[in-house]
Amino acid sequence: MTINDSAANLTNTGSPSDDYLRLEHSNADHSRTFVVNWCLGNTCNYACSYCPDNLHDASKPWTSYEVAENFARRVMDHYGPDRKYYFEFTGGEVSLWKDFLKLAEFLKARGARVGMISNGSRSMDWWQKARPLLDHVCMSFHPESALEKEDHFFEVAKFLSEGLRLHLNVMMSPEKFDACYAVATRLKNIPNVSIAMQPLIVNFGSELYKYTPAQHHIMDKQYDLIVKHIKHTREFEYFRGAMQKVYADGRRVSQAPHRFINNGQNNWAGWKCKVGLEQIVVDFDGKVFRGWCLVGDSLGHVADPDFKFPTEAITCTKTMCHCNFDIMATKYRANAAVETGVSP
Ligand code: SF4
Ligand code: SF4
Repeated sequence: MTINDSAANLTNTGSPSDDYLRLEHSNADHSRTFVVNWCLGNTCNYACSYCPDNLHDASKPWTSYEVAENFARRVMDHYGPDRKYYFEFTGGEVSLWKDFLKLAEFLKARGARVGMISNGSRSMDWWQKARPLLDHVCMSFHPESALEKEDHFFEVAKFLSEGLRLHLNVMMSPEKFDACYAVATRLKNIPNVSIAMQPLIVNFGSELYKYTPAQHHIMDKQYDLIVKHIKHTREFEYFRGAMQKVYADGRRVSQAPHRFINNGQNNWAGWKCKVGLEQIVVDFDGKVFRGWCLVGDSLGHVADPDFKFPTEAITCTKTMCHCNFDIMATKYRANAAVETGVSP
C-alpha cells in the first residue's frame, strides 16, 4: 500500500473485493472463545482532544458490582461450560472503578480470562495487585497527558510484560509526532510486547488527522522500524486474531482485521454474521448489543432479569464494519449456507 492510499481507504466502504464465501477465525479455538467487550463507565483522568467528551466526561455512573457479577455469571451459564470466556473491559479508564479488581477476581475464580484497556496511569501499587488477575492488557500512550509521565508508563509496561500479554498503542499525535515516535522506539526494548503506532482519528470516527508524507511513511513502515526489533521469548494465549477468507475451492487466506479497514474491504452487508454468538458488547448505559456496529439493536440491559441471549446469526445491514472487534466475528454469505461447526 502506498502512503497516500492508506488514508484514502479509511473511508472506502466498498464491498469485499473478492469472492470468498466466508470469513472465519484463522485459529479455530477463537471461534469457541466467547468474548464480552464491556464498557463499565466513562470516567477518565485524561481528556484527550481526539476523544469524544462522552467517552471521558464521567456523565455515566460506573456499573454496580452486583449487576456486573450477575450478568457475567449469566453469560457463562448461558453459553455453557464448553466455551472459553474472555472479558475485556473498557471505559473511560476502568482502573479507576473501585470494584474492578473484585470483578476480575470473581471472573478468574470462574476460569474466565480477563483483559482491560487502560491508559496505564494507575500507581505501581495498583498494577502489582492487578497483574495476577489479568491475562491481557492493552495499554495506550496518550501523549497529551502521558508525555510528562513517560517513565511511569515505561515502568508499568515493563512490569506487566513480565506477567501477562501486553499490547502497547502509541497514539501518534501529528503535533507531538517526534516525541511519540521516540516513545515507541524506547518501548520496543521491552521483550514480549506488541506495539502499534496508531494514527489518530477525529473523535474516533472515520476521518484521519492530517499527517505529513514523512509521518505517514514512519507509520507505514512500523514493522521495520519498531515491531521486528521486539524480542519474544514467551508464548501467550490469544483470544482473537487474524481472520481467514475461505473460498469455494477450499483456499484459505489469512488477513489481519485492520487490513480489511485499510483496504476498504469492510462491507459485509447482506452476509450472515455471528456477532452475538461469538461475542457481545455492553455500552456505558449497560445496554447489550451483538457488536459495536449495533446491528440488530439492543438485546436488553445487563440488569434486566428477562435478558435473552441471541441464538442465531444475524443478517448484516451496515455497509461499513468499522472496528476490528466486530470484524473478528465469523461471517458468511447468506446464500452460501456455510457454517463453521460451532454452535452457541
Ligand atoms: S485516555 Fe482514553 S478514555 Fe481517557 S480521554 Fe484519552 S482516549 Fe479518552
Ligand atoms: S457490521 Fe456488524 S453485523 Fe455487519 S459484518 Fe460487521 S459485525 Fe457483522
